[in-house]
Amino acid sequence: MTFGSPTGSGRSLLKQTVREYALTLFDEVGFTSPAAPGHTAFVDAWLEAGYHGEMSYLKTRKRLRGGPLNSQKLLGKARSVIVVAQSYDFREAYPLAPAGRGSAGQGLIARYARGEDYHRVMWEKLNTLRDWLADEFPGTQSRGYTDSGPIRERELAARAGLGWQGKHTNLISLKLGNFFFLGALLTSLKLEPDLPFDSHHCGTCTRCLSVCPTGAIVAPMALDARRCISYLTIELHGSIPEELRPLLGDHIFGCDDCLAACPWNDKAQAANELRLFGGDGQVDLLELLELLATEEAFEQRFAGSPILRPGRTGLRRNVCVALGNVGGPEAIAPLERVAQTDPSELVREHARWAIRRLSAG
Ligand code: SF4
Ligand code: SF4
Repeated sequence: MTFGSPTGSGRSLLKQTVREYALTLFDEVGFTSPAAPGHTAFVDAWLEAGYHGEMSYLKTRKRLRGGPLNSQKLLGKARSVIVVAQSYDFREAYPLAPAGRGSAGQGLIARYARGEDYHRVMWEKLNTLRDWLADEFPGTQSRGYTDSGPIRERELAARAGLGWQGKHTNLISLKLGNFFFLGALLTSLKLEPDLPFDSHHCGTCTRCLSVCPTGAIVAPMALDARRCISYLTIELHGSIPEELRPLLGDHIFGCDDCLAACPWNDKAQAANELRLFGGDGQVDLLELLELLATEEAFEQRFAGSPILRPGRTGLRRNVCVALGNVGGPEAIAPLERVAQTDPSELVREHARWAIRRLSAG
């Protein structure tokens, strides 16, 4: 297909062609310009408050994140941004498990981490879209990002008409609810921007704020990452603050309680990308504690999964905390072995904490 320099209806046809192809890969697609995102004052205030915790790369990327997307560091020739969304809402297969109140001895993995690593899945699809654009429109250059570069995908997605940022700070789509991943493909192809999604449909609802086990959503749209279980179990390398450990409940990797509480999921389209499907997220904590004795077993068990991110040490630390919260007396002996033999003092200290908590009854 060849489009010379389309104007008027030609531009609409071009965009429609790209949209139709993108929708064979993703659940939702929108278009926006590479102009700098807004809300930089809001992001600056969030960083100044220290809500990002140890994620110092967010500060490093601040300048780029606040700048236009057609900078040389991203894609100098970018004239458009194609924003895509991929649902991972498999609720029909596995109803929501009430976090923190699961079965004794069972840990819970957040639904965004149950399947194949979403970065891989999204990159593969973004690269397929990039290659298709280059074939269809020779000379087109494109580059994809998904939760990986100095791109504020949620703001771009709102600007591309995909939805609004809810009080829990994630994007909500009328079509997909809020269980979806976002990606952005910067492209040199000129595509007409879609209208931004400029209405907000949370109304008086505050479910996500009320359900958060740690009070991490300190105000609508303001997340203190230092209290968020996703941060504490994945991004934090050191010790989990003791006062927060009991609040983690059975969560061992991530948390999506605020997303699960959102009523906009009720009529959402179900997910169809089976690589993101990973069951009900329940794991036997004692079995996992044993498996995490060696790096080899950890890497083998979680190959291709985002659960590799905190490393063996981080995950075993999390399992110790969950056992302290939802384990029974039978967990004390295995935890004592971990407290004596694990090579990491971080893990040993969390095991001792769990033993004390279980011993106190
Ligand atoms: S992910 Fe969990 S801990 Fe973090 S804000 Fe949402 S409910 Fe709270
Ligand atoms: S739970 Fe309610 S307040 Fe929170 S994001 Fe959803 S609609 Fe908005």
